[in-house]
Amino acid sequence: MIPGMRDVIVAANWKMHTTPADAGELARTIAGRTRVPGVTRVICPPFVCLAAVRGALVEANGEVGVGAQNIHHEAQGAYTGEVAAAMLVGLATWVIIGHSERRRDAGETDEQIGRKLGRAVDAALRPILCVGEQLEEREMGQAGLVVRRQLDGALRRHEPALLAAAGLVIAYEPVWAIGTGRTASGADAAAMAGIIRVTLGEIGFPERGEAIPVLYGGSVTSSAIDEFMAEPSIDGALVGGASLKPDEMAGIVARAGVTAAARGLTG
Ligand code: PEP
Repeated sequence: MIPGMRDVIVAANWKMHTTPADAGELARTIAGRTRVPGVTRVICPPFVCLAAVRGALVEANGEVGVGAQNIHHEAQGAYTGEVAAAMLVGLATWVIIGHSERRRDAGETDEQIGRKLGRAVDAALRPILCVGEQLEEREMGQAGLVVRRQLDGALRRHEPALLAAAGLVIAYEPVWAIGTGRTASGADAAAMAGIIRVTLGEIGFPERGEAIPVLYGGSVTSSAIDEFMAEPSIDGALVGGASLKPDEMAGIVARAGVTAAARGLTG
């Protein structure tokens, strides 16, 4: 990272798609189509595809990071079907934490999400912490309040400098925009990125949170990415549905590369 310049990151969340038989090939194709200077790329496949994707990406020069989509908040124990952070060593170097689909389907609380962050740091996994409001909350003018509460609930228990050193990334993902084809406006996403950094500063992050990358997520496509990457406070995207399509990923990463070049990250 260039001092004073935040990384530009495009992370792919494959959700519950792909199998060990086809994930490696898709990862290899996407890696080959997204070689753009200055953009940090990450692919987060299902747990059972991590080995295939890692193998394929190592063959493809290891330039693309591999991430998990979740970890458990305990280090080990009687948690049938769950995966602990330490189990991912050698398979992943990134992890998505607190995705709204897990908050919704697994009832994850901010307290659990905070504990997951600690597990990620202990296992040297770079965390992407997801926050975002529901549609009713936005309509009631409470989007900022909700995101502040989520950040506070997850981050307060940790030493901010430690999380910053672990490479914490925040993904602002308005829940109503995920998988719906509807996006926030660039201006709204930038306003939320501002609220996120003010909150990080209040929590005690170095440089008032200015060094922490904030991604936008929610129906990002190659045609929708521009208005987010045009905002100086937005540092990339967490991409769901479109991340399974090599053409889409090529377009998204190419646009992110324009921002990376403007930030001087390409040299
Ligand atoms: C996501 O899974 O984080 C996401 C933003 O999904 P989509 O791009 O499909 O809305």
